[in-house]
Amino acid sequence: ITVDSLKNTAENINNSSKTIFDNSINKKLKISDFELLKTLGKGAHGKVLLCERRDVPGKYYAMKIINKKHIIENNQLEHTIAEKKILSSLKNSFLVKLDYAFQTDNKIYFLMDFMKGGELFQHLKKKKRFLENETKFIIACLILGLGHLHNKSYVYRDLKPENILLDDIGYVKLSDFGLAKELNKEELAKTFCGTPEYLSPEILLNKGCNRTVDWWALGILIFELMIGIPPFYSKNVQEMYQNILFRQPSFPNNISMSNECKDLILKLLEKNPEKRFGVDADSLELMSHEWFKDFPWSSLMH
Ligand code: ATP
Repeated sequence: ITVDSLKNTAENINNSSKTIFDNSINKKLKISDFELLKTLGKGAHGKVLLCERRDVPGKYYAMKIINKKHIIENNQLEHTIAEKKILSSLKNSFLVKLDYAFQTDNKIYFLMDFMKGGELFQHLKKKKRFLENETKFIIACLILGLGHLHNKSYVYRDLKPENILLDDIGYVKLSDFGLAKELNKEELAKTFCGTPEYLSPEILLNKGCNRTVDWWALGILIFELMIGIPPFYSKNVQEMYQNILFRQPSFPNNISMSNECKDLILKLLEKNPEKRFGVDADSLELMSHEWFKDFPWSSLMH
């Protein structure tokens, strides 16, 4: 993206934007109070730019620009509304926060925490695998983030390394709430959605899912971070689905992994969601697993 096209974008935004969400307590901001700096990435429905507050140099945000026409044409209206609602209503150190939202006739602009460290996916690709202690730290942050979402009655449904962002010192936050859904305690979400490697048996069998679907995905993630590949992976998607439904994960001998870690993975990858670890006390159940014995939870929360 060129500087000229950024300037054009900035002018179009400034001419016609309306504020739809503002998290600031004292000073109300307009979109013209931000300078666009560079493109951070492209998503399915728009792009994400880095921008800086003009009045507070060094205060950066990620600006997600969503094309309204694209949203309507791709039946994503409900997901976008959910994303805006969740981003603006939840405040937790392990969930990416929305600070401002603006709209013009054609576009929606979300200004979120800028996560300088990028996607966990890129780090995994580069490192191939994480050490057990590194994995434990990342997973602990996610347990707190997902636990908060669940407490507020949302199921996330799209846990994967691409949706986990790192800040400048390595704390992780969940982003992309497009598939999150508000669910009452006894309710089940029926839509078939997610990412093949991370789909749970109950989703594949169209039985509907509740918040334990996120703990299944967390089991897949721990395995992928430690081993470098998801547990049921196959190039052939149908075969992968068969593996998810009928096979148990197997741990390679050449990678060192504690028994406690294996035990947690196996308990999270329980195929029956009613027996899955986390079904009773949600994040508290995971926090009290042996793998986290002596883990400094209260320091992490602070
Ligand atoms: P979707 O499926 O909704 O299109 P996506 O992850 O493909 O999701 P976006 O969420 O629009 O797309 O993100 C596009 C790119 O911008 C990704 O590479 C992502 O890492 C980056 N990005 C998104 N949010 C932030 C942020 N808050 N800070 C830094 N980079 C971000």
